[in-house]
Amino acid sequence: MTTAEPPRNPQSLSGLRPFLRPYRGHVALAAIFLLLAAVAMLVFPVALRGMIDGGLAAPPGERLVALRGHFLALFGVAVALGLFSAARFYLVSWLGERVSADLRSAVYAHVLRQSPAFFESTQTGEVLSRLTTDTTLVQTVVGSSFSMGLRNLVMGAGALVMLVITHPYVMTLVLAAVLLVVLPAMFFGRRVRKLSRASQDRVADSSAIAAEVLNAIPVVQSHAAEAREADRFREATENAFRTGVRRTRARAVLVAFVIIANAGLMLWGLYQGAEGVVRGSITAGQLGQAAFYVAIFAGAVAVLGEVYGDLLRAAGATERLMELLASRSPVASPERPVPLPPPRAGSSVRFDAVRFHYPSRPLAPALASFSLDVAAGETVALVGPSGAGKTTVFQLLLRFYDPQQGAIVLDGVRIDQLRLQELRGRIGLVPQEPVVFSSSALENIRYGRPEASDEEVKAAARGAFAHDFIEALPEGYATFLGERGVRLSGGQRQRIAIARAMLKNPPLLLLDEATSALDAESERMVQAALESAMRDRTTLVIAHRLATVQKADRIVVLDHGQIVESGRHEELLARDGVYARLAALQFMA
Ligand code: ADP
Repeated sequence: MTTAEPPRNPQSLSGLRPFLRPYRGHVALAAIFLLLAAVAMLVFPVALRGMIDGGLAAPPGERLVALRGHFLALFGVAVALGLFSAARFYLVSWLGERVSADLRSAVYAHVLRQSPAFFESTQTGEVLSRLTTDTTLVQTVVGSSFSMGLRNLVMGAGALVMLVITHPYVMTLVLAAVLLVVLPAMFFGRRVRKLSRASQDRVADSSAIAAEVLNAIPVVQSHAAEAREADRFREATENAFRTGVRRTRARAVLVAFVIIANAGLMLWGLYQGAEGVVRGSITAGQLGQAAFYVAIFAGAVAVLGEVYGDLLRAAGATERLMELLASRSPVASPERPVPLPPPRAGSSVRFDAVRFHYPSRPLAPALASFSLDVAAGETVALVGPSGAGKTTVFQLLLRFYDPQQGAIVLDGVRIDQLRLQELRGRIGLVPQEPVVFSSSALENIRYGRPEASDEEVKAAARGAFAHDFIEALPEGYATFLGERGVRLSGGQRQRIAIARAMLKNPPLLLLDEATSALDAESERMVQAALESAMRDRTTLVIAHRLATVQKADRIVVLDHGQIVESGRHEELLARDGVYARLAALQFMA
């Protein structure tokens, strides 16, 4: 993970308020149980004192009866403490789970709507780590640290008040304990935490190495680099080990210090108290009660120190999550979208003097003075050398980016005046590298139109010449495809993608033809599928095949973001320009 050290301001946690608001009732109930549990805890020493002074110290004859009553009272307090604590624990943990789940879903849904420009500046790994690590930090805070802090604040303050009321002089002891034990322990604890962060980072380093190498096993083995890689990993692991040992050493010293110093102070206090009991200045019960309050108070201060670190870390996480939620996609539906005229058999498309550069390359226009008129039902092939701007034409039509100058018009309406869903609903895209999700063949095709019936899916598959090979799969249309299922050949994947686009039945089809060669049989099938997909609609195709350009009504030749030639195959060949040279190289098959 490459995220920077979180900003250290607990106020950032207020960003979580909107996520807690729907569960106000739960929060209030949790607070009530928290208070009740703290009160029960504070009553316990009082009951203890009653037991010692009223029971143990009672006249011998009444002692047994009195003792029984006091023990019952103590047990009653314990039962109340147990029930209140359980209720608080349940409610608070529920809140933690609920809020982090809501946050996770909100961030994911928000990220899905971002334009590609967002994904150029934010790495997928970072988004994933925010979705998991940061939301988990928030969960810890909402679901435990915060309530732990609040509980200990109440108990610590309560214990202090009770001490002041019952035995003011014990206060000096308590303050000494805090200064002598808790403060140095907190300082040392911070060092331990820093070291454990470092040791986690070192472990992450070694897993990063492993992840990279395991993904490139063929390269590693072909270079006979196994031993070298194993050494590199061992070194990273040793590094993690050394950091881990340093952390453990610091922690061991801390443990020894806390136990010895605490015991020393408690014993000293008890000794003073015991002298008081012997002299008769206080009762045994008062001593027991005071000792209990001191323990509660010191424990509370220690926990608060610990919890504060958690709060700061969660504040950093919250800040990062809120930042992510606040990012606005530069491409969005307009406030008052213009409705598109009802779809016809084909859409008309117009590029009007479009000039566009990618956000990361302001000095290199990907398209310049680009004007193109495509009539409804026409098939236009885009050709040109790699980097000419063909894919950019598709990206702009789908409105993944907005051009800096000029306009793009679909069926007579500028596309930036349309609702994004409506614009993209009119467009079918068959990408160069079709994506097959890990689900059944049926569901993979249905992705194009989720409400389509099985029969419609099969009809689209037939049209894309995919039906026969799907039927021949082990479980036909129910066969699981993708990562944990059947791996399809390149040609089969393309036909799945074509079927998906045909099921959507869009008036405008954008086809990015695969560059990779297929065997003759697949090639024939894919061509047949493309031909059937182009029928009765407007098609823009980035063409790499002679068969495809020959089918086009018009070929548009792009170079350096501009149209340099256009016409039909034979005309362009005769012209002996860019196209003729390109054709000689590319369409030789
Ligand atoms: P083609 O599809 O014709 O091969 P593209 O439309 O992909 O060409 O690219 C046109 C130009 O824009 C190229 O110079 C390419 O390097 C650049 N380009 C493409 N995508 C991006 C991007 N996401 N960010 C920056 N530059 C890009």
